[in-house]
Amino acid sequence: MKVTEHIARANGKTLFSVEILPPLKGKSIQSIYNILDPIMEFKPAFIDVTYHREEYVYKKRENGLLEKFSMRKRPGTVAICSAIINHYNVDTVPHIICGGFSREETENALIDLHFLNIDNVLLLRGDAIKSEPVFEAHPLGHRYAIDLVKQVANMNTGKYLDEELQDVTPTNFCIGVAAYPEKHFEAPNLTTDMRWLKSKIEAGAEYLVTQMFFDNSKYFAFVEKCKEMGINVPIIPGLKPITTRKQLTSLPKAFHVDIPQELIDRIEACKTDADVKSEGIQWCVEQSKELMKAGAPCLHYYTMSNAEITCRIAEKVF
Ligand code: FAD
Repeated sequence: MKVTEHIARANGKTLFSVEILPPLKGKSIQSIYNILDPIMEFKPAFIDVTYHREEYVYKKRENGLLEKFSMRKRPGTVAICSAIINHYNVDTVPHIICGGFSREETENALIDLHFLNIDNVLLLRGDAIKSEPVFEAHPLGHRYAIDLVKQVANMNTGKYLDEELQDVTPTNFCIGVAAYPEKHFEAPNLTTDMRWLKSKIEAGAEYLVTQMFFDNSKYFAFVEKCKEMGINVPIIPGLKPITTRKQLTSLPKAFHVDIPQELIDRIEACKTDADVKSEGIQWCVEQSKELMKAGAPCLHYYTMSNAEITCRIAEKVF
């Protein structure tokens, strides 16, 4: 079932969903089931599986010179989505990114998803790989997420890249895209960023999932501004608990989000690592309850593959 159908059928009740990462290359699907088994108790409406770009690694050759290799450390998004559906009978949302893919490779991945009866996708640009200072599009690929949205929207009307194909079956993907209550880091300001966001919806996106935030007032202000700008699709808040002291600096650096002073004070007052974890979880629980009360359509947790933390939050919220 589509994410938008889940939301419509919930009839105002806030849904629960999670995002997981494919395991590192070499691990089995059991490592995914180990994460999801305890989470399934809370009946997630859908499970997102992220997509990870290739990275360049250097290996020393016999002659002492370094050789550059391109490799994906976390492959398997499409197969994991299909395995989860079969194992738990729950909907999955594979993330599809522009970076590193030609339009044809993207089309082939979408055809695989269509054959597997997966009818949700979250479409993203992806970030620059570590060795690139800024995002570089594949020469035959997409520069922005909106271009990917247009490709999927075209397939939903039966328009594939080869326009001469006969008797094509249109796909039926429900399209989600990313949104940034605190602005995407490359955008010159929030209004410009939101104009591009609106154009993704006009191109076919049906719901939004936000970047993590730690201050609900940022989400509420964003939802208001969306309404003013005529963005009327469901806006799913993305949530992540702080569980280590180090994250007070690493998360703002990696995700370009602010941490409220009150949360910093509460974490810094903790005496042990276990206290830090409990305090971070407590903050996320408080955030979740307030968002639920305000009618958020779904609470989407970035599990970072940690079932214990996600379950400790879910048991207090759902
Ligand atoms: P876009 O919508 O393309 O926007 C990128 C920037 O360009 C923004 O600053 C925007 O304002 C601007 N812009 C947009 N359209 C145009 C245009 N037509 N012309 C000029 N400027 C424009 N990354 C992964 O690699 N894998 C994942 O699985 C993944 N999952 C994510 C899930 C969520 C919920 C979120 C919030 C992010 C996720 N990301 C993931 C990270 C994401 O790929 C990065 O944040 C990336 O930098 C931007 O992606 P986007 O789809 O928002 O890009």
